[in-house]
Amino acid sequence: MPETYAVSVSVVPAEVLPSGTKAVQTASVRVHVTRNGEPALATGVQLGLEAVSNPGHAHAAAGGGAVCAGYLALPVCVTDNGGNCEVTYQAAQAAATVKITAELAGHAGVKGEATVQVKVNLGSFASSGNGYVFEGQVANHGGNTYGAGNLVSAGAAIAQRYADYVADLSPEQQAGVATRLRFTDASLEWGGLYDIYSTWGPPHSYHRYGRDLDIAVVGRDSAGNLAGVRIESLRIAMREVLHAEVQSSVFPLSGGILNEGDHYHIRVLEVGGGE
Ligand SMILES: [Zn+2]
Repeated sequence: MPETYAVSVSVVPAEVLPSGTKAVQTASVRVHVTRNGEPALATGVQLGLEAVSNPGHAHAAAGGGAVCAGYLALPVCVTDNGGNCEVTYQAAQAAATVKITAELAGHAGVKGEATVQVKVNLGSFASSGNGYVFEGQVANHGGNTYGAGNLVSAGAAIAQRYADYVADLSPEQQAGVATRLRFTDASLEWGGLYDIYSTWGPPHSYHRYGRDLDIAVVGRDSAGNLAGVRIESLRIAMREVLHAEVQSSVFPLSGGILNEGDHYHIRVLEVGGGE
């Protein structure tokens, strides 16, 4: 009687966060092999990974390797008495849809496959709102307007406070002040690695989980630089607005109100705790 093998694969969970600069995210790849309908024990299985797509990135995955697809702890596994074996998958740093294949050793073509999604579920800023405009286009990456719900609401509220701040100034003071904030660089559509130079690597160690946002002011001088007077007005406003927010605990802004010279970088806490 000929032997008929079958291989099935599942990934638990089927959706996992991207690995980041600090934390590694994992899922369990579970393989089940049968021979003539019964569990096939002591059977070798060859595993493989492929990034089917990297949502948010419009540039080629070539050279991206594990950054795009992730890793398997081992490339093979051997089934136990129940016909099962298991390998740990380490999530890619980039957002990805990854196909995982399991092929029976010595039985070419007898295989199963499963898909895991590497993503952060995010909302999006509008392209503009009261007190802000979002400069959301970035080469090879579609949009960078994506953020967690608490980041989107914090950004909108800060812009509203800035608009109120400007409205309260005298006409003379308003002449030297930018009327709107300029938001840039939240996160990509599915979050994960945000490689602004399309290199599948830093810079931008942050901006991965929809918790980061860069805030500057609208307006540049003829050389393309943000005008000093406007930056100074932003500093004053940010000091008033952001510190008021922190003290009132309206928004879960962590220690991340960073002055980065020509812009501020804010970070909200992860919902439900975290750094
Ligand atoms: Zn990219």
